[in-house]
Amino acid sequence: MRRIERSVIFNKNIYQWWDIETVYKPIHNSAGMTDDEMFADVEPFRIKMVEPIKIPSSEERERSLKEAGLNVFLVKGENIFIDLLTDSGTGAMSDRQWAGLMMGDETYAGSRNFYNLESAVADILGFEYVLPCHQGRGAENVLHTALIKDGDVVPGNTHFDTTKAHIEHKKGKAIDCTIDEAADPYIDLPFKGNVDLNKLEAVYKEYGKEHIPFTVITATCNSGGGQPVSMENMRAVYKLSQKYGILVCLDGARFAENCYFIKKREPGMEKYSIKEIAKLQADCFDLMTMSAKKDAIVNIGGFVATRHAEIYDKIKNFGILFEGFVTYGGLAGRDLEAMAIGLYEGVDQDYLAYRIGHVRYLGEQLKEQGIPVLWPPGGHAIYLDMKKFLPHIPPEQFPGMAFCAYLYLESGVRGVEIGTLLNGRDPETGLNRPAKLELVRLTIPRRVYTHRHLDFVVKAVMKVWEKKDQIKGFELSYESPVLRHFTAQFKWVE
Ligand SMILES: *Cc1c(COP(=O)(O)O)cnc(C)c1O
Repeated sequence: MRRIERSVIFNKNIYQWWDIETVYKPIHNSAGMTDDEMFADVEPFRIKMVEPIKIPSSEERERSLKEAGLNVFLVKGENIFIDLLTDSGTGAMSDRQWAGLMMGDETYAGSRNFYNLESAVADILGFEYVLPCHQGRGAENVLHTALIKDGDVVPGNTHFDTTKAHIEHKKGKAIDCTIDEAADPYIDLPFKGNVDLNKLEAVYKEYGKEHIPFTVITATCNSGGGQPVSMENMRAVYKLSQKYGILVCLDGARFAENCYFIKKREPGMEKYSIKEIAKLQADCFDLMTMSAKKDAIVNIGGFVATRHAEIYDKIKNFGILFEGFVTYGGLAGRDLEAMAIGLYEGVDQDYLAYRIGHVRYLGEQLKEQGIPVLWPPGGHAIYLDMKKFLPHIPPEQFPGMAFCAYLYLESGVRGVEIGTLLNGRDPETGLNRPAKLELVRLTIPRRVYTHRHLDFVVKAVMKVWEKKDQIKGFELSYESPVLRHFTAQFKWVE
């Protein structure tokens, strides 16, 4: 019996009139945007579940801020309209990640989800040994306890605040070897997170490998404005460090965003996929600490990973001591599964194009309105330059904190200070360490807010901009000895 053709739609003959090559392509190629431009910052996802957010009234905003001692960090989440405090653990997990939670294997030792994480890390980053930790600073605590001795130094490119605090807690010292250009908020360079190799070599010569347990490269560089580090620079750092016998550690919270910048900005790198770049990048490191709350798009999680069995042997006992058994590290099996899936989603090129484009969109809108914005935009946040925005407020009166208070009062939008408050006090002199750059960070959570939300943020910043000359500085009324920015309280300066 003859088989009846079931699908006319897929019968090739019907298509003969419509010839992609001769009819469509010539028109398409004649002018207009490329695909890259077309899809630059559009969301490559649709919304399956919504979380209503309350718009706090002006009375509620005033009351909340007063109760918080004028520190927006201490305002309750339910009184925030758009929360740009951090991109850490605030991302929206995908349907696959949520499905992964249901696949949690809560075996105490040897959970299946651990092995999925281990294979994701090996596949994407090439590290053989993985020690899960509850978040990035858990990973730092484990690693630093194992490797840093009293009097050691840890050079790097503008250490993140928890990294620096952990180094100092182990009685070590963080030495910043970032290129000088990074201190200029407007110089438009592709890789402002790069290490100055001369500065680094000077530290190597002065302290030697006996006093340098490792060098840490933060990519992208969070405290340096979310600026990327080039592949060329990472390779050079690795080569130099090998020459001096010093380990190199990637602080890789945003390793995938860094890969996207490398692909887009570094000559010769565009031919590689993001996943290939992630591997090439990891090849420049002996080990890595990861806050998976960033580029692995989970609400909690982290790990230490390394290619060296000896390092794994040293850290695993501290992992057990601080975090839990080596196959769960302070996390539930389901969290490990979401992290394994999220690592793959984080290196998806369409996702990264949206992510970086979404952040850039906010930067461009603000810049067009004349707002002093750190340039070029970082991968995860837009930074406002308070030295230009509020030039009448000196660093000791925390202009960034004063700005955040006004922004919240006017709009319910929460930003975060990255300046003298965050910089803390010099452990020797006890004086405020005035920050090189006095910034406010508007940090964009992953896959959470729409472009329309960002338009609202622009409107809110403009409202503060119009009143900027009337804004007064702050003085501290309460301060804690470590990581003071989390809990400080303030009064207006008379
Ligand atoms: C967030 C972050 C950390 C610390 O990670 P947590 O998960 O917040 O503990 C370390 N380094 C960098 C660069 C980060 O952005």
